[in-house]
Amino acid sequence: MVIVMTVNASSLDISRVAEYIGEHGARPHISHGEERTIIGVIGYQHTVRREHVATFPGVEKVIPISKPFKLVSREFKKDNTVVSLNGIKFGDNKPVIIAGPCSVESEQQILETAQIVKNSGAHLLRGGAFKPRSSPYSFQGLGKQGLKFLQKAREETGLYIVTEVLEGMHVPLVAEYADVLQIGARNMQNYELLKAVGRINKPVLLKRGMSATMTEFLMSAEYIISEGNSEIILCERGIRTFVEYSRNTLDLNIVPAVKNISHLPIIVDPSHGTGRRDLIEPLSMAALAVGADGLLIEVHPHPEQALSDADQTLNPLEFRRLMHRINYFITSQENYSPENGEIRVTG
Ligand code: PEP
Ligand code: MN
Repeated sequence: MVIVMTVNASSLDISRVAEYIGEHGARPHISHGEERTIIGVIGYQHTVRREHVATFPGVEKVIPISKPFKLVSREFKKDNTVVSLNGIKFGDNKPVIIAGPCSVESEQQILETAQIVKNSGAHLLRGGAFKPRSSPYSFQGLGKQGLKFLQKAREETGLYIVTEVLEGMHVPLVAEYADVLQIGARNMQNYELLKAVGRINKPVLLKRGMSATMTEFLMSAEYIISEGNSEIILCERGIRTFVEYSRNTLDLNIVPAVKNISHLPIIVDPSHGTGRRDLIEPLSMAALAVGADGLLIEVHPHPEQALSDADQTLNPLEFRRLMHRINYFITSQENYSPENGEIRVTG
């Protein structure tokens, strides 16, 4: 449930409500808005009685939340959450482009890729230093050395870094180097890891598990936000279906569906979503058309030599062409006004 305080509720009113929630085995999540304070009731809340809370001084109304997820729902927060990194904004109506190799392979490879993606107009650089591979015999990433190469790429280009954290123990280390911490599809339900990134104050890119429902996806985001970190960027990266012509099936339905029920931004990863280089450009455009807040694209100076995900990685020329098309789309959207498209029924 969510408790909406009156405009002139005092801090004593707020702390009385918070105390009552605490005494009944739940946790208060207090957000001070511009006008009023809203208190979310987190955790086990069966003994927190709605009718009782409604009688407290300073309480305007008590709203039950029907969804299993609370803090990430639009019922809790009406306006979009905008995740900002010094002017780069996820969730602010203009798509943000994250690009880079699947894995950081060497200093030269990541520095070269960083220049390529920057010159093509991407906003953030990605690259895995800790890699979740299906086979224990495949390249596992360069670990800490890879983080250092990413740091150098940031120093040279000014691009912010997105990189994956695989386990809770590594969160402080990865947070030292990364601007955005990625939680991969395979870890979407690693609840201890989710709690650990919920306690840092850096944005988290949460990828959808390959067989996760939308509710499970949002419940994972709820783990992060309930620990205090609301800077979450969701990422659709394809789900497992019966199709055999692509690695995964990009579920673009989820983009507008998430936006209806959650205030969090959601981006799309057509590289993992298709596993096929030739499908990346059309699916990127489709993702933007359904309202994605950004894209995550794998790019490598020489995809044929990539140590992971070679088949779904664009070369510099292909990426430049894609960025050109994306920019054309963005410009056309800037001129689009819903009012002009309104159909008026007269007479
Ligand atoms: C990746 O981004 O390289 C990656 C491993 O993604 P996912 O977790 O979506 O498979
Ligand atoms: Mn990859």
